[in-house]
Amino acid sequence: MAQLSKERTLNFWERTYVLPVLKGMWFTFKHMFRPKVTLEYPEKKVILGPEFRGRPVLVAENGVERCVACGLCARVCPPLAISMQAGETENVKERYPVKFEIDMLRCIYCGLCEEVCPEEAIVMSEEYDINFSNREQAKFDKQKLMVDATKLKKRLDWLKKFKNPNYGEVYHFNKANNKHSIKDQNLHAH
Ligand code: SF4
Ligand code: SF4
Repeated sequence: MAQLSKERTLNFWERTYVLPVLKGMWFTFKHMFRPKVTLEYPEKKVILGPEFRGRPVLVAENGVERCVACGLCARVCPPLAISMQAGETENVKERYPVKFEIDMLRCIYCGLCEEVCPEEAIVMSEEYDINFSNREQAKFDKQKLMVDATKLKKRLDWLKKFKNPNYGEVYHFNKANNKHSIKDQNLHAH
């Protein structure tokens, strides 16, 4: 094969590849005596920070979901994993999801549902090791999706710090005007 004009000419030792091989072996040898970073999963679980995007969950306060069934998350979800049915209530919240379902076989953990939710009602949790043995089990209904806000505190605080301020700056959002919100008005019932 003709030599390219910019190709570097290898000397004798370079052509034997002995030095790069020894270098690679030395690198491996060095790491044999360093502390192990591999976790013995599932016996040991990695503790993840609030920035991790685990399975999406519905935020509940005293057993009531924050969700006002606006449908934005279902609309934005790229693989169409979310399906819901909205219902009306007599109280200030006005709307709630009669049915809310996420097909976890479709979910790609993108976090867009959390991104668009106006009520911080759906957030990404720390949970990553979910499993199911058939397709039906992978459909998580409202009860399975609801997690109390106290258990999601780390993620909610993280969102307040890194996500919400951006919107606040742009729209000058006034919580007092958000009259139908469980999140902003501390409403605790349907
Ligand atoms: S994380 Fe992404 S894929 Fe999963 S439900 Fe939310 S929007 Fe859909
Ligand atoms: S979870 Fe949020 S975005 Fe989805 S329907 Fe409920 S309020 Fe709307």
